[in-house]
Amino acid sequence: MLADNRIKAMCSAGAENDVSIGRMRIGKDAPLAVIAGPCAIENEQMLRETARLVIKSGAQMIRGGAFKPRSSPYSFQGLGLPGLKMLHRVGRELGVPVISEVMDSGDVEVMAEYVDVLQVGARNMQNFPLLRKLGTIDKPVLLKRGLAATIEEWLLAAEYIMVGGNEKVILCERGIRTHERWTRNTLDLSAVAVVKSRSCLPVIVDPSHATGHNHLVAPMAKAAVAAGADGLMIEVHPCPEKAMSDGQQALTPEQFREMMLEVSRIAAAVGRHAV
Ligand code: PEP
Ligand code: MN
Repeated sequence: MLADNRIKAMCSAGAENDVSIGRMRIGKDAPLAVIAGPCAIENEQMLRETARLVIKSGAQMIRGGAFKPRSSPYSFQGLGLPGLKMLHRVGRELGVPVISEVMDSGDVEVMAEYVDVLQVGARNMQNFPLLRKLGTIDKPVLLKRGLAATIEEWLLAAEYIMVGGNEKVILCERGIRTHERWTRNTLDLSAVAVVKSRSCLPVIVDPSHATGHNHLVAPMAKAAVAAGADGLMIEVHPCPEKAMSDGQQALTPEQFREMMLEVSRIAAAVGRHAV
């Protein structure tokens, strides 16, 4: 599989594979990277307050969706550009990088002005025009695994970005669709180990979308770190029952703080610093 390709060339050259985002690094030799924040940006005050609290507990990057890929066209679709501007302001104010999802190749340039990392969501993992466009920019891309994508398809999606010249790709396992209905998706932690053996790209895990349930987030976050993940992406909302999207899987800031304490013990046990 994956005959001649960018991942192989980059990894066999033994290049420095950690992805740098300002002072933050994500990768094998970096501290555990924790990205946290609401599923969707709902208003600036909520975003600022959530960001402040998660940073205090050890998050190094803030997430927040402005363009939301909702399953139903009748659900909240995100605040769009005004939301992105809020995210940018809050990130600069608090001195941390920010990440948000890009759904359309036509939005790549404007998104790159406001965010430090562009996220490709599971539903767009094989949106090839989008991936090609992301290959032309000089910003890191977080590539989520598709809902039903094999690991090979996921790595080939990374190749689409890298072949255009942008090698700053971070992979994110966020669960895949199986017959199991107790969880929203099935977290494939073996994918972390497979990707680590097949590539040198950083891999993080999103236990929020993988499980869909608030009480399953901390156990899977710990398992992900034990399995060798380079970081975590966690949804946090100040008042999950009022969230405009994905409230059932959001941690409160206090639950996030507790999760971070547990995660840092696992990180230490596997020889990785938690910040
Ligand atoms: C998200 O991170 O908000 C999201 C929509 O995730 P996914 O693409 O993994 O479903
Ligand atoms: Mn979400």
